[in-house]
Amino acid sequence: MTAPGLSIAVIGSGPSGLYAVDGLLRKLPGVRVDVIDRLPTPYGLVRGGVAPDHQGTKAIVRQFGRTMGKEGVRFLGNVEVGRDVSVDELKGLYDAVVVALGAYEDRRLGIPGEDLPGVHGSWSFVGWYNGHPDFAGLNPDLSRPGAVVIGNGNVALDVCRILAKTGGELALSDIAPAALAAIQAGAQGDIFLAGRRGPVEAAFTPAELGELGHLSRARPVVDAVVLPEGVGDVDGREKPFKEKNLELLRGFAAGDGDQPRRIHMLFWAAPVAILGTDRVEGVRFERTRLEGGRAVGTGETFDVAAGLVVSAIGYRTAPLDGLPMDGGVVANADGRVAPGVYAVGWAKRGPSGTIPTNRADSLAVVDLMAADLADAAGGKPGGAALDALLAERGARVVSFADWEKIDAAEVAAATDPCPRVKFATVAEMLAATD
Ligand SMILES: Cc1cc2nc3c(=O)[nH]c(=O)nc-3n(C[C@H](O)[C@H](O)[C@H](O)COP(=O)(O)OP(=O)(O)OC[C@H]3O[C@@H](n4cnc5c(N)ncnc54)[C@H](O)[C@@H]3O)c2cc1C
Repeated sequence: MTAPGLSIAVIGSGPSGLYAVDGLLRKLPGVRVDVIDRLPTPYGLVRGGVAPDHQGTKAIVRQFGRTMGKEGVRFLGNVEVGRDVSVDELKGLYDAVVVALGAYEDRRLGIPGEDLPGVHGSWSFVGWYNGHPDFAGLNPDLSRPGAVVIGNGNVALDVCRILAKTGGELALSDIAPAALAAIQAGAQGDIFLAGRRGPVEAAFTPAELGELGHLSRARPVVDAVVLPEGVGDVDGREKPFKEKNLELLRGFAAGDGDQPRRIHMLFWAAPVAILGTDRVEGVRFERTRLEGGRAVGTGETFDVAAGLVVSAIGYRTAPLDGLPMDGGVVANADGRVAPGVYAVGWAKRGPSGTIPTNRADSLAVVDLMAADLADAAGGKPGGAALDALLAERGARVVSFADWEKIDAAEVAAATDPCPRVKFATVAEMLAATD
């Protein structure tokens, strides 16, 4: 099928949006796709979420860049849907709209004290050290000892690792310079990584967990008492990962490195209150046990002193006018949201899965779109009409060529082995496009 008359808007230039673009170009040759992003920089969480010391993972942007450079594809950066243009307007202008806007609100802990200064959701904290312009001014106070990271997934591991690494270990990274300086000068010392369930239930992947065992100034500490004999009755596909995690944790429990800092891994510990009056001073945990697959409190509590708390317990998609919501995601049936509107990625299925998970997911939605659009006549006004609307509203649209200038300037500002020095603010990014 060819689709020379069709125009499609994709909201969000992260992995799910760009895998969808790739699929659309293959399934609907001749289609025109406009990729809209609220930031002047593309690639979503690959730039703003994936840890700055995981440059190998970030290399996927080369593939995404090729997709962006294909005929029929345009990048409209610095255009926020909900501010510069509405979902309903996009529905009127394009034959289909793909919602790929990710999940950007931290899930709340729902416990007393969580709004005290010094408590941060992982989205803002990770965004700060990753140079996301929304968080350039976060300036977390790292002047007091003790850091608690709440969560038992890879994001929690990332936060611990970045707090624990030396400047030398972060040389080959694109961490925001201000964050690097603040973390290196900080007094956080020991770090407590807490999960409300046990070592087998933790969502860590072995590669990320293993990295904790190779830090030059910190070593993970695990109480061997919490480690079970085996992983028990878990899903067959997950079993090898869980077994590897357990093996790594056994190694941590037996380890005795002389690094000055400790990363204490607390399992079966549910936070019940953030302690402090004017700012965070610690976290009260309740010990838990597994009952019918759920972690339930035992009534026994203990406190950990901390000057910094980062919660990494998941994300929700922020509601956007014109999109029905279902809990923390855009309401959808296999990606169909409403006639002509589709959802992919974290906005569709919630914050789970790695970058490649989004590929299969987006391609499945593209299959549905191709079927739905098979008889579409096309002919909606498309990109030219959006350009006119944005010009009328005074929007400063960043094209892909503009992004390439930002990219080149960031790379040029870096000294080997640092791959790039990110601009801290949107104003600086826009200045680089002149
Ligand atoms: C901290 C962290 C670390 C991670 N590390 C890894 C890792 O090491 N390896 C791995 O494989 N996966 C990792 N992941 C998971 C991976 O990043 C996600 O699977 C993937 O990014 C989800 O893609 P997405 O396109 O759905 O959303 P996103 O990547 O979030 O992209 C959404 C895009 O939509 C844009 N947007 C949002 N709202 C609007 C709006 N109103 N108007 C216009 N644009 C908008 C955003 O600016 C963004 O560019 C990590 C995730 C996090 C949070």
